[in-house]
Amino acid sequence: MKEREQDNHSDFIRDIVKDDLASGRSQNIHTRFPPEPNGYLHIGHAKSICLNFGVAREFGGLCNLRFDDTNPVKEEDEYVRAIREDVKWLGFDWEDREYYASDNFDRLYDYAIQLIKEGKAYVDDLSADEIREHRGTLTDQGRESPFRDRSVAENLDLFERMNKGEFGDGEKVLRARIDMSSGNMNMRDPVMYRILHEDHHRSGDKWCIYPMYDWAHGQCDSIEGITHSLCTLEFEDHRPLYNWFIEQLNIHYPKQIEFARLNMSYTVLSKRRLVELVDKGHVSGWDDPRMPTIAGMRRRGYPPESIRNFCDRIGVAKRDSMVDIALLEFCVREVLNKTAPRVMAVLNPLKVVITNYPDGGSEELDAINNPEDESMGSRKVPFSKVLYIEKDDFMEDPPKKFFRLAPGREVRLRYAYFITCNEVIKDPVTGDILELHCTYDPATRGGDAPDGRKVKATLHWVSAEHSLDAEVRAYDHLFLKEDLAQKRSQRCIQSGHRGYW
Ligand code: ATP
Ligand code: MG
Repeated sequence: MKEREQDNHSDFIRDIVKDDLASGRSQNIHTRFPPEPNGYLHIGHAKSICLNFGVAREFGGLCNLRFDDTNPVKEEDEYVRAIREDVKWLGFDWEDREYYASDNFDRLYDYAIQLIKEGKAYVDDLSADEIREHRGTLTDQGRESPFRDRSVAENLDLFERMNKGEFGDGEKVLRARIDMSSGNMNMRDPVMYRILHEDHHRSGDKWCIYPMYDWAHGQCDSIEGITHSLCTLEFEDHRPLYNWFIEQLNIHYPKQIEFARLNMSYTVLSKRRLVELVDKGHVSGWDDPRMPTIAGMRRRGYPPESIRNFCDRIGVAKRDSMVDIALLEFCVREVLNKTAPRVMAVLNPLKVVITNYPDGGSEELDAINNPEDESMGSRKVPFSKVLYIEKDDFMEDPPKKFFRLAPGREVRLRYAYFITCNEVIKDPVTGDILELHCTYDPATRGGDAPDGRKVKATLHWVSAEHSLDAEVRAYDHLFLKEDLAQKRSQRCIQSGHRGYW
């Protein structure tokens, strides 16, 4: 099993991991999946989950689940529970290694003190707007804050007082003292701590200063002993900053490797956008079956195996691309084809009367439960004089390529008989087709003609008298527009299950 998995997976990240093991740079492999608990997981996260847990498993290592909960305002326990459930459902196990960035708040505070003492961090009184303005642009250097050269003693005192709650939100921040002229904007004295008088979902009211994501992420990786920190491309420019922090603190170095995010047609993969759909009531919730969330896909009936297979197929690369949602649907059908029992159902019925079948007669025919899995056996399907077929399976005046039922044409009813359409009965006023009159060939019982004659189509059907009412939920894509990145529009959301408009 293990060998097969390794054979199946090959990409630039696995090559790096292999090299690091071979050269002795890494003794073991330790990865993590680090969601921010500010929304439900989507199929893009599934890519990251499969990669992080997959790499760990293939190379005999470990993968942690870490909640990146540095922002008290947007994070909730509901999301933590949903994320746990989704990762488990996808088939991955973090065992007892469930960590939170907030577990490290004390440690991060101590690290900050260490940097202040070494003159590598300072308290700044500039407002958020002023800091932005001082930061410069890609073409213009930044300007140093007038508070940049405060003494270590003053910085220590102010930072402690920030922590004690002596200042209001936004009055002061702690910044790293790096280089305001750096070509990399992330290195221009980034903010490490901000004041937020907000309760946190885990630490309660213990803190009123909170670490920025960029100050927390790398150190959390380091504290957990992560060897390979796999993240998406937008963090490439942050890597020098993460490395700078690790070097100044002289702590375990996690190697960051970036890969391309998953983008998919007809949907959005951004929690910010998805939360908007939920909050504004455009969908019924995070698990609305049209949502690209794991919870939505579960509710829609997607097997977890199909999502894992999809992630294997798309692979990991460095270049951004758009994956066709049809590939995901193919992966779902591939698994369901092997596992789902079949039944016949007619969604849009057209009545068919078998004129040469005895009035009031019926019989039972054998239908195979799954053509791809013999062990699933067969079932009896009732057949009688009046049947329903799908409206789309008949055309009065068919074009060349239409092989299904038409006047004068013979087709197979699956597991039943060949039938021939002799007459089309219409509403005299509207001209709508009301029913078809057909004859059946009793010699073709079970679906084959003893004389070897062939038909070009096999239709599904139900016996009108024996059929059961059913509620069928037919879902289409969440958006009508294929590439939402081109022009963002909320107007093309479907209104109902199928609502094309
Ligand atoms: P979003 O933009 O949806 O909010 P995010 O990156 O902010 O996504 P996180 O909770 O921080 O969401 O993501 C957890 C992990 O999942 C990160 O390592 C992130 O890189 C990865 N991830 C998120 N979206 C995708 C995606 N579309 N494709 C691949 N990986 C993703
Ligand atoms: Mg994020």
